[in-house]
Amino acid sequence: MGAKLSVILPAYNEEKMIRKAQEALNKVLGEAGIPHEIVFVDDGSTDGTWEVVCRACEEGAESVGIHFSRNFGKEAAIFAGLAHADGAVVAVMDCDLQHPPETLVEMYRLWEQGYEIVEGVKASRGRESLAHKCSAGLFYKIMSKVTGMDMQNASDFKMMDRKVVDALLTLPERNTFFRALSSWVGYKTVIVKFEVREREEGVSKWSAKALIKYAMSNIAGFTSFPLQIVAFGGLAVLTVTVVLGGQTLVKYFSGSAIEGFSTVILLILFIGSVIMISLGIIGYYLSKIYDEIKQRPRYIISEIAKKKDEGKGE
Ligand code: UDP
Ligand code: MG
Repeated sequence: MGAKLSVILPAYNEEKMIRKAQEALNKVLGEAGIPHEIVFVDDGSTDGTWEVVCRACEEGAESVGIHFSRNFGKEAAIFAGLAHADGAVVAVMDCDLQHPPETLVEMYRLWEQGYEIVEGVKASRGRESLAHKCSAGLFYKIMSKVTGMDMQNASDFKMMDRKVVDALLTLPERNTFFRALSSWVGYKTVIVKFEVREREEGVSKWSAKALIKYAMSNIAGFTSFPLQIVAFGGLAVLTVTVVLGGQTLVKYFSGSAIEGFSTVILLILFIGSVIMISLGIIGYYLSKIYDEIKQRPRYIISEIAKKKDEGKGE
């Protein structure tokens, strides 16, 4: 028998998908002879997800259920799962089965060959609206640039060695971006392509507003370049100042200094907006720093359900 695999399934209002995911995983991993446990993380669902998770933990094979006191977001759910998984190798996947369970077997075999991180990369982006495709495309272009890694088709579907999980758990920041942090830690990595499936039940949890917030926060989390733009903006304005200043002085000394009132208005408006935007960027980083120094926990767990396999568990 091989080493134990922990599969983390973050779930928010997924009551219909829990059992399906559990059955699919037990079937696929059972047939491949991979010993495993499932870590369900209920991210403060408001439907019956937690009840279904408790039942799944009682009846199914080895599993752990974690219930958050409220919705903390998928990133927090992934990190709670990592903290509670005890396998020698750990996988993270969506519990709506958009990440095919069969790919886990392929990933596991690669891990057995010595790869420490197996990254699931989307072969195509699945069915998404044009606006979503374009904005996601732009976001991942920026993220690829700032992280120096190719994030274009990155996903949260990954398998990691215990070493990598422990390294991720030592990172102190509150505002995590799992997809990029798992590359940031380094290690021997290999890529596996997978086709994104259609969601069987329920709806996607992403709204346009949530996506914009997510994008801004992750960009700020990985680069301070926008702060440098403030300095570059200042230099650009300084250049304009030199040119306009020269012109103004020439006019003054040649005795024709009265006109140019529109230029003054335009300049005041322009400089005013540049200053306000710059303050906004600085303010955004300030708020992120404030969030981090408060040192609040990433999530609060209200209940845990556990089932260990008889004979080998606690
Ligand atoms: N999810 C979560 N907390 C949230 C939102 C989503 O744990 O606040 C989980 C969700 O249950 C699913 C996964 O994250 O297992 C991906 O979410 P979703 O399918 O809504 O995203 P999409 O596939 O549309 O990117
Ligand atoms: Mg999904």
